Amino acid sequence: MNRGSHRRRAALALLVIGLPFLVLTGLSVILIRQERDLARAQVVEERSRLVQVVGRRFRERLEGVRLEVAAGLPATPELSFMARRQGNAFVAAWEERAPVEPSPAVGLQIDSGLRAELVEHRPAEALRRYRAALSLARLPEDEARARMLLARVLFKLGRENDARVEYERLARTSAAAVDDQGIPFALYGAQRLTVLGGSETVALDAMETALREPALSPAAIHLLRGAAGTLTPSRAGALLSAADLRLRSVEQILALKREIDRLVPRSTDGSSAGSWAAFGDPLWLVASGPSRQGEVVFAVAADDLTRAIRGDDPMLGAFHLTRGWGPDGEALGAAFPGLRLHLHAAAAPSAGDQRLLVSRRFIAASLAAVLAATLVAAWLLWRDVKREVRVTELRAQFVSSVSHELRTPLAAIRMYAESLRMGRPPDGKGRDEYLDTIVNESERLSRLLDNVLEFSKIERGERRYTIEPADLAAVVQSASRAIEYSVRQHGFSLELDLQQDLPPVRADADSIEQAVLNLLTNAMKYSGQSRSIGLTLARKNGHAVIAVRDHGIGIDPAEQPRIFEKYYRAPNARGTTGAGLGLSIVSHIVTAHGGQVTIESEPGKGSTFSLALPMEE
Ligand code: ADP
Repeated sequence: MNRGSHRRRAALALLVIGLPFLVLTGLSVILIRQERDLARAQVVEERSRLVQVVGRRFRERLEGVRLEVAAGLPATPELSFMARRQGNAFVAAWEERAPVEPSPAVGLQIDSGLRAELVEHRPAEALRRYRAALSLARLPEDEARARMLLARVLFKLGRENDARVEYERLARTSAAAVDDQGIPFALYGAQRLTVLGGSETVALDAMETALREPALSPAAIHLLRGAAGTLTPSRAGALLSAADLRLRSVEQILALKREIDRLVPRSTDGSSAGSWAAFGDPLWLVASGPSRQGEVVFAVAADDLTRAIRGDDPMLGAFHLTRGWGPDGEALGAAFPGLRLHLHAAAAPSAGDQRLLVSRRFIAASLAAVLAATLVAAWLLWRDVKREVRVTELRAQFVSSVSHELRTPLAAIRMYAESLRMGRPPDGKGRDEYLDTIVNESERLSRLLDNVLEFSKIERGERRYTIEPADLAAVVQSASRAIEYSVRQHGFSLELDLQQDLPPVRADADSIEQAVLNLLTNAMKYSGQSRSIGLTLARKNGHAVIAVRDHGIGIDPAEQPRIFEKYYRAPNARGTTGAGLGLSIVSHIVTAHGGQVTIESEPGKGSTFSLALPMEE
């Protein structure tokens, strides 16, 4: 098979593997895209369904609130604010309270006291008057007003302790008793206590009680917020944030007051058909409608409403409402103009996402597996083809080498035999030389044929060794004798150094002899100008070691591992005839004996090949 057909085969195989892989990849990409589009469509569908459901729930809830307001039910939990409508405005809860005028007797004493205190600068007299007013007071407002003045004048008189006691009493007054600005007297007491270093607990209690009062005026809340700010932060933390919240709500009510007419115009026929208007931050939904007390304005905090709806149905997931017309969120529908619903991305991936993820992973893993298999198959194929091409080349080279190797001794034998037949040379010495050459060349021929036969047996896996105790010294000697003639004829000197007392080694004597012969032949072939070869047998580390040393061309270290491969010949040996079989046979024989071959060689200096065979003690 030539190189071209190998390439064709490799290309075909790659096509057979690569094409399905490409098709598979394309299909997978299409599949993943389709899945993704499907998942997106599902998300859109799911969102619009949610918007519809949430919108419906909002409408139902708000209608519920409107009905409850109309029926005069007091405790609608989502209701943030409600006030009586008056013309274009509304009356906030704290404005509903009419200030309580002091009773005449108490008023008289207080007025005298005030004159004595502020005009005549007679605090002792003022103290007396305020005390009198206090004893006359029947209404909580009267009592609180008198006590506040009493405490003030006590403080002026330097009686701080007495003043503090009165302020503590004042702080315990009911939060319903307010002055003409709607500020509970109790809050004044609490505020003074924080300034004079009175009991924080009493001050705190007073403020907490005041904060529970629904109709607290903005002025009262500001006072409370200011006083709470001076308390120990760890104790007043909750109170402060509640006050801040209340402040925002009151400010929102004040802002609403300015806008109510524009936001929720008064229906001319007094009907309650008005829609809900979005207002402020925090977002309120504001409406106007009838109630038992007449027309009212009321508001629901969007956050409270959202929480209530979600509480009813946790499956709805997380969402919140905002005001605006921007692209964020989804419009909640005509019933809620300018309101947008924001669905929060679910923390856990939805079932659709998960399915997509799983199928993507599966496809990616399959593709990776197919790709890996393709690459491995392609690599194996490439390696096989490469190896086959190389073996083909080597085999072709081998055939030509062997033919050449056979032709040379045959030509010599024939030439000398023909000369002898023609009676040349006539004398005995010349004839003997001719005959010796014929014998020598036939021996070389038979060694070559032995090697070829041995090699083909090894290749077919049919080489069997007859292992029995052998005298290695005798085996080595026999090999040296077999090659003696050739050695002499080529002018070599073969120096033997054989350790004689070695015990018998279990080996196939014939094949070991063949291995030694191959090494000796190589030593002669690759000796260059040198003419000395050494052959030794010695015991080393429990092994019998046969070594053949020459002083010839040597072997490059990079070539050394390869010269045992079949057909392989090092570049520096290519000027010498050979088929690249000898060493591969040597290696096979020695390995079959459980031994090993080693080389020590240096280019230009020579080589030593050692066969180490294990010895049985
Ligand atoms: P061949 O000698 O027929 O080429 P071998 O298998 O006997 O085949 O040897 C393989 C190669 O090892 C040789 O071609 C040569 O390159 C190298 N080689 C073997 N013995 C020697 C040696 N004594 N000195 C230098 N090179 C050697």
